[in-house]
Formats: sequence, structure tokens, C-alpha cells
Amino acid sequence: MDVDELLSLIKCSSCSKPASSTDGLYHCPDAHETCGKCVKDDDDRCQKCEKPLERCPLAERLFSRLPVQCRFYDFGCSNLLKGKEAEEEHSKTCKARYVNSLLWNSH
Ligand SMILES: [Zn+2]
Ligand SMILES: [Zn+2]
Ligand SMILES: [Zn+2]
Repeated sequence: MDVDELLSLIKCSSCSKPASSTDGLYHCPDAHETCGKCVKDDDDRCQKCEKPLERCPLAERLFSRLPVQCRFYDFGCSNLLKGKEAEEEHSKTCKARYVNSLLWNSH
């Protein structure tokens, strides 16, 4: 099983992005995966079927073994780093970081 396959398993059914270890992954009894970003603080019900969501322990274990996606993925970096510290290190020199700062400055 390769990384893309693994990431597709922890894909959020709401925003269809893979959940990240910082946000965590939740699921409902009907197996709708939802990432932590899409779970509202005051309402932890599934947005599809309104059943209560709970944290997915298997995903938590996966996160600890998965390569970490560069935080600038949305800006065109598809690097996968070996763990949080490697990602931290990479983000300092990431080329997509430049695009990111350009976008922010134009706001
Ligand atoms: Zn989501
Ligand atoms: Zn559901
Ligand atoms: Zn990067």
C-alpha cells in the first residue's frame, strides 16, 4: 500500500482533503470520515447523517507512521516529509513558501 492509498483512507468526506495529524480524524457510526477542521467546536455531529462523531483511533495510529505533507501543499509543494520535525525543517526552505508569502502580501 503506498502513501496515496493510505491518504485516501483518511480523506474527509466533507472537504475531501486527507486529514492531518494536527486536526485529527473523526468518524460516525456510518463511517463518514470527517477531518478535525470540519468538526465544529460546538457541534460534533456528522454533517452527512447527524450521528455523533468520535475520534478515529486507527487514523491516530496511521498519522504517527505517515509521512507528513508539506504545509504549503495548497501552494504547489507536493513534498512528503518523514515526520513533523522534517516538515518543520523543510518548510523553512520550501519554494512554495515564497508563493504563499506573495499571496499573503497581496491581501
Ligand atoms: Zn474536512
Ligand atoms: Zn455520518
Ligand atoms: Zn514544501
